[in-house]
Amino acid sequence: MKAAVYRGPRHIKIEEVPEPEIKGRRVRVKFKAGSICGTDMHFYRGEWKLKKGRIIGHDAWGIREDTNERVVMAAVANCGHCYFCLRGLPSYCVRGKFYGLTRDGFFSESKAMLPRSLIPLPSTVSDEEAAIVEPVALAIRVLDYMKPNLGDWVTILGQGAIGLLMTQVALLKGCRVIAVDLEDYRLKLSEKYGADVLVNAKNEDVVKTIRKLTKIGSDLVIEAAGTKGTVEQTPLLVRKAGKVALVGESEGYLNLGDADQALFFTIYLSPVEYPSAVELIARKLVDVKGLITHRFKLGDFEKALETLDNPAEKPLKVIITQ
Ligand SMILES: [Zn+2]
Ligand SMILES: [Zn+2]
Repeated sequence: MKAAVYRGPRHIKIEEVPEPEIKGRRVRVKFKAGSICGTDMHFYRGEWKLKKGRIIGHDAWGIREDTNERVVMAAVANCGHCYFCLRGLPSYCVRGKFYGLTRDGFFSESKAMLPRSLIPLPSTVSDEEAAIVEPVALAIRVLDYMKPNLGDWVTILGQGAIGLLMTQVALLKGCRVIAVDLEDYRLKLSEKYGADVLVNAKNEDVVKTIRKLTKIGSDLVIEAAGTKGTVEQTPLLVRKAGKVALVGESEGYLNLGDADQALFFTIYLSPVEYPSAVELIARKLVDVKGLITHRFKLGDFEKALETLDNPAEKPLKVIITQ
């Protein structure tokens, strides 16, 4: 079967690999569609390390061979009974395996999965929409964890696919959203989704603008741009006793001089919210379709990576189909 195999930076190739063994309680899932994530691009660019020979991909759906159901494959296989699992934190499972990172991922024609990692898709979620579930689950997790009050200011640094999903979920929570990005084509989408304030960081001083607007600082700040520079901005934007989620990047120097009592946390992935994510997409409360800018077949995976890596293509979400 064909699979997208990591061989080194800028070297992810479609190769012929053996079919997975279907052992024990595992079932075969035939790949239908998935999407490439920022994490995959970190590996592609050589910014993050990955074992050579690893099949990448952690956001995809397929057909469960034994029941013929359409199912989303959750990115984490957790044990269910360690300290973290018992506290509803399977992302930190001490025996946890992460597909596309510490285990072979989903960009292959077929995959052996445990049934408990499969989330059924209702017919109201289209084939394309089902390819983008993991970042919706993450957005739900982040906003649930931040527990915003109605009308809170949420500053979202970066309006790529993750940032735009954070914008949508924050608005569902009754927040006022300040969307920040360097690209007007992305901010146009933020506006379409209902962001209250748009800030193009190329033309405006982000800290000054947001301090002036909110007077006391932003109640909540979400870093979704994935750069050290935006991480370093967060303590200057958040109000005292506010909250900051570092979603895109966790490295950088935090000057906490004026960020008294603010809470900072990092988070990258959450398998718990997949069913809620599917539900929000099915009920048209969150739009993932509008984030799709390009579509490729699994066989053209290298072209898909090149497209995502080229800003001139104005990429947001790139979908891979069978
Ligand atoms: Zn991801
Ligand atoms: Zn566990």
